[in-house]
Amino acid sequence: MVFGEEAFELEKNADGIFEIQTTKNRHYSKAVIISAGNGAFRPRKLEIEHADKYENTNLHYFVNNIESFRDKTVAICGGGDSAVDWALTLEPIAKKVYLIHRRPQFRAQEHSVHLLQESSVEIMTPFVPISVNGNDAFLTSVTLQEARKDNTLELDIDDFLINYGFSSSIGSMKKWGFEVQGNAVVVNSKMETTIPGVYAIGDIGTYSGKVKLIATGFGEAPIAVNNAMAYINPDTRVQPMHSTSLF
Ligand SMILES: Cc1cc2nc3c(=O)[nH]c(=O)nc-3n(C[C@H](O)[C@H](O)[C@H](O)COP(=O)(O)OP(=O)(O)OC[C@H]3O[C@@H](n4cnc5c(N)ncnc54)[C@H](O)[C@@H]3O)c2cc1C
Repeated sequence: MVFGEEAFELEKNADGIFEIQTTKNRHYSKAVIISAGNGAFRPRKLEIEHADKYENTNLHYFVNNIESFRDKTVAICGGGDSAVDWALTLEPIAKKVYLIHRRPQFRAQEHSVHLLQESSVEIMTPFVPISVNGNDAFLTSVTLQEARKDNTLELDIDDFLINYGFSSSIGSMKKWGFEVQGNAVVVNSKMETTIPGVYAIGDIGTYSGKVKLIATGFGEAPIAVNNAMAYINPDTRVQPMHSTSLF
């Protein structure tokens, strides 16, 4: 088992072995079963020039260690539950928390919004960030513009946390060579894609009448595994023996 790797390339060699390139390694297999759901999730990025420069220092899309925000001035961007929850979580730890949202209303739970209004978090609405400013290593301030107006203001901050949600995409898998329909991979009743030896199960696999549920994926897994075994070794029976028949 390998963890923390994203598969982005699949190739079949002349000897029939599949090569899977991930973000860290190259893996080899006689058959492949894809269970990638709706694809890899990525945070929606701040689409501002130079924002990516600070991703390794003080512009964050995730909170890894709450303590790193202690006594800092933190600006949080976003209007959903994550943004509001992080603002409330960091409020007692940080020196100052700003919450920036482009609309006057938040799409978070009513109770959380009530707590937010009672808190010391400074709510900056309706504002959007238009530039990040800093030196080569650290972002030191962010410029905000009032939505649909011209007035701007600059906030001096130590950390900038972006909570714009996540997007998922099967991305590079669309180029792996099998038939794709939208964000799903077309499979037959063996859960096999249009590339023999490559199977797709769970939300990523699609066929007429497909229902995306946990139980569906659970049922498709043994279909793919047993057919993959028969693909690798044609002498293997697709229908396995029942455990009740073993004794
Ligand atoms: C809000 C919501 C509520 C739901 N409620 C229910 C419910 O009540 N009952 C029910 O039965 N179903 C429910 N579902 C559907 C259910 O969650 C899915 O059918 C099920 O999780 C699909 O499982 P999966 O393993 O195919 O995909 P996922 O659970 O999405 O897992 C896919 C995994 O693959 C990883 N991955 C993606 N791309 C790559 C890559 N390139 N390389 C490596 N890893 C990758 C992802 O990070 C993820 O960990 C719900 C779905 C949603 C969105």
